Amino acid sequence: MSTKDYLEKDYYKVLGVSKTATADEIKKSYRKLARKYHPDANKGDAKAEERFKEISEAYNTLSDENRRKEYDDARSLFGSGGFRRPGPGGAGGGFGGFDLGDLFGGGAGTGTAGSGRLGDLLGGMFGGGGGTARGTQTRPRRGADVETETTLGFGDAIDGVTVSLRLTGEGACPVCHGTGAKSGTVPRVCPTCQGTGQTSQNLGSFAFSEPCKDCRGRGLVVDDPCPECAGSGRAMSSRTIQARIPAGVADGQRIKLKGKGAPGERGGPAGDLYVKIHVTPHPVFGRSGHNLTVTVPVTFPEAALGAEVKVPALRGAPVSVRIPAGTPNGRTFRVRGRGVRRSDGTNGDLLVTVAVQVPQKLTGPAREALYSFRDATAGEDPREELLRQAKQTG
Ligand SMILES: [Zn+2]
Ligand SMILES: [Zn+2]
Repeated sequence: MSTKDYLEKDYYKVLGVSKTATADEIKKSYRKLARKYHPDANKGDAKAEERFKEISEAYNTLSDENRRKEYDDARSLFGSGGFRRPGPGGAGGGFGGFDLGDLFGGGAGTGTAGSGRLGDLLGGMFGGGGGTARGTQTRPRRGADVETETTLGFGDAIDGVTVSLRLTGEGACPVCHGTGAKSGTVPRVCPTCQGTGQTSQNLGSFAFSEPCKDCRGRGLVVDDPCPECAGSGRAMSSRTIQARIPAGVADGQRIKLKGKGAPGERGGPAGDLYVKIHVTPHPVFGRSGHNLTVTVPVTFPEAALGAEVKVPALRGAPVSVRIPAGTPNGRTFRVRGRGVRRSDGTNGDLLVTVAVQVPQKLTGPAREALYSFRDATAGEDPREELLRQAKQTG
């Protein structure tokens, strides 16, 4: 049992009793639940086994007067939000004059609550999106941002496409429809706050209103928890949405689809959906931002004498590219407007890189012609300059 368990787990809820329950009420409820979820009575049912463990853990703490007090103190202390997040490098364990180690003692198994761990702990409690801290339950809540990924074909990434995305997220439990109550039972109005979700405290002339601790501001309490969600009313579910991926997205890009994340609660807006894009490579074309790239083989005579060569384009007919005489291997030519469409409606370019080919097989006349070429260019040594430079600096 860790500090984190103490703060995250609502043992009262697990046992289905109120915070003010007597030792007898706790014992009674424990016996009832333990019988129901005992592994012997639920052979092979992992959920029941998990629930049985929770019940046992809760009872272990709440049945001991001292442990119960420690637990209550810890939760009211942290739940009140009176603690601030420690700064980086803050003293380990000590925190606002209060030592976690003292509170939980060696028996709680947290003798090493360092600042990193403390930071994690508080981050989990007070950080955004957790939503379990008291006080967040009654206000409209924005839905969570959701992250997913999808793989697009090369052309679809360029043209834009509508894809089906399967999103998995937390939603209402399908068994109890979010009530948290076992089927056939209904949650009852919280007796502590009479269903308002708020309790007020009079301090002289001031009255403080705070979310009800017994129902966590929900206004309802569940006596017989839904076995599917253990009374939380929440479950993982998946849904499929149609999402329009805009034209011109690139491999590795992360795009934001506003309002396509998890639905909001109590009238809050939906979260956003972030989609990481993967693009399958094309056998012919590559991408460089909004430019398309293609490598085109040319013969030595074409490169040496100049030529008009046909180059494939991604959409439509091949384009003609003029290769000037004396084009070296690896030179790149630009065909304007034949690349990827930008969001402003303009297009990137097609970048054509020539690869001069060396013939692998020569016919008799071709070989004769090359011998003639060699004889005609005798005396030109392409390595002359290289050798001279190497000698000078050597
Ligand atoms: Zn449920
Ligand atoms: Zn209440």
